[in-house]
Amino acid sequence: MSSSPSQYDVIILGAGASGLLCAITAAKQGRRVLVLERSNKIGKKILMSGGGRCNFTNQFVEADHFISQNKHFSKAALKRYTQWDFIEMVERYDIDYEQRKHQQLFCLNSAKDILNMLLEECRLANINIKTQCELEHIHAIELKGHSNKDHDVPHRYQVQFSDDKTSQQHHCQSVVVATGALSIPSLGGSSLGYDIAQQFGLKVTPRRAGLVPFMFSDDMKPACERLSGLALEVTASCNKQSFTENMLFTHRGLSGPVILQISNYWHPGDTVNIDLLPHKEAAAWLVESKQQYPKNQLKTILSHQLAKPLVNELQTRWWPEKAQSPLAEFSDKQLTAIGNKLNQWALKPSATEGYRTAEVTLGGIDTDAISSKTMEVKHQPGLYFIGEVLDVTGHLGGFNFQWAWSSGYSAGLFV
Ligand SMILES: Cc1cc2nc3c(=O)[nH]c(=O)nc-3n(C[C@H](O)[C@H](O)[C@H](O)COP(=O)(O)OP(=O)(O)OC[C@H]3O[C@@H](n4cnc5c(N)ncnc54)[C@H](O)[C@@H]3O)c2cc1C
Repeated sequence: MSSSPSQYDVIILGAGASGLLCAITAAKQGRRVLVLERSNKIGKKILMSGGGRCNFTNQFVEADHFISQNKHFSKAALKRYTQWDFIEMVERYDIDYEQRKHQQLFCLNSAKDILNMLLEECRLANINIKTQCELEHIHAIELKGHSNKDHDVPHRYQVQFSDDKTSQQHHCQSVVVATGALSIPSLGGSSLGYDIAQQFGLKVTPRRAGLVPFMFSDDMKPACERLSGLALEVTASCNKQSFTENMLFTHRGLSGPVILQISNYWHPGDTVNIDLLPHKEAAAWLVESKQQYPKNQLKTILSHQLAKPLVNELQTRWWPEKAQSPLAEFSDKQLTAIGNKLNQWALKPSATEGYRTAEVTLGGIDTDAISSKTMEVKHQPGLYFIGEVLDVTGHLGGFNFQWAWSSGYSAGLFV
C-alpha cells in the first residue's frame, strides 16, 4: 500500500460530465486535483449522448426544466455557470454545433469533440485522472485542535482505493462525489454516491428510471409490435404535465422524445393521455367532415392526417362494426366519441424499460442537506455532491448536462 498524505487537495470520484468540469474549475483555482474513475474509459455517457452528437446544453435554461423535491435548489448553480459559459468554451475550441428543435444544442460532428475539449482542459490544468479504480473507503479524519470548518485544514479525508490490484491511500481536504446515478450500468451507472451519502447520514429520496420508454402488457403490446417504426407528432399528458413532440412505436412499446419527457412524470398505475391530433379539435372536425364528405369512410378521412397502419389499428379498436360504412351512417354522437378518443387516447403502461435504457435517474440525494451555492454537505465540511447523484433531474434537451456543468463548476470554486 502506498500513502501520499499531501499530494492532492481535492479528490473527485467519477470522471463523467460533472466530475470533469469540477476538476477543471478547481485546478484553475490552484487546487491539486486527483480524479478517480472506476471504468476503463473517461466520459462514456458523454460519448453515447444525443445519439453520438451530445446535446450538450440548451439555449433556454430555467429551473422549471428540472425536477426535484426542492424546485429552487438548482437555481444558484444554473445562474453561476450558465449555458452561455459552456457555449463560450465550445466556441473557444472551435467545435461545430447546431441548434435543433426546442433550442437544443448538438455537436455537428461528434460527441467526442466535447470530451476531447474537457480532456484538453484537464491536461492544461495538470489534473491527474486514474481509470479502473475501485474505491475501498472514505474516512473523515478527526481533527485535533481544528474546527473541521477551517478551510486551511490540510487533511480532512482519507480515501483508499485499489488501482491495478494495488491499494493506495491519499489524504485530502475535499472529496467530491460525482459518480452519477443508476441509469445504464454498462455506461457507469452506479449506486456508490448513495452509499457514500448514507455513510455520512444524508437522506436519499426514492429513485426511479427517467427519460425512458414505456412497455405494455395489455393489447397495446401487440399493437406496438405491429406499428413498430412508425413515428408521429403527439401531445402526451400525465399528472398535469404535457409535452408535444414525436412518439415512436417500437417492438417493446412506446418511445420517442415525447414519451421520454412524460416518463419523468409517470408513476406505476398512472394513465398517459395521447393526443394523436394535437393541432385539431377532432370531434368537431369529424362532424364537419360528415357534412362535407358523407360518402367517404371514416378511415379515408383520418388517413389525410394519420398514417394508414395507425388508422387501421384505431379502426379495429374503435369502430370495427362500421369499418365499411360511409360517414353518413355515423351519428354525430359516435363521431364525437371517436374524435374525443383521438385527442385523448388513454394508455396504461405496465412499466418503463427501467435503468437498462433510462437516460437518467429521478430522485437522489436529498438537497436539503446540501448548500445550493457550493454543493458542500452542510453538516460535513469538505464533502461535496454534484451532478445526477443529487435529487435534480432535467427534462430532455441538454438540461442534464447543463446541470452537471453548473453543479460541477459551483463545487469547483469552493473545494
Ligand atoms: C444514453 C444516454 C444519452 C444521454 N444523452 C444526453 C444528452 O444528449 N444531453 C443531456 O443533457 N443529457 C444526456 N444524458 C444524461 C447525461 O449523460 C447525465 O445526466 C450526465 O452524464 C450526468 O453527469 P454526472 O457527472 O452526474 O454522471 P456521469 O456522467 O454518469 O459520470 C459518472 C462517472 O462516475 C463513474 N463512476 C461510477 N461509479 C464509480 C465508482 N464507484 N468509482 C469511481 N467512479 C465511478 C462512472 O463510470 C462515470 O464515469 C444521457 C444519458 C444517457 C444514458
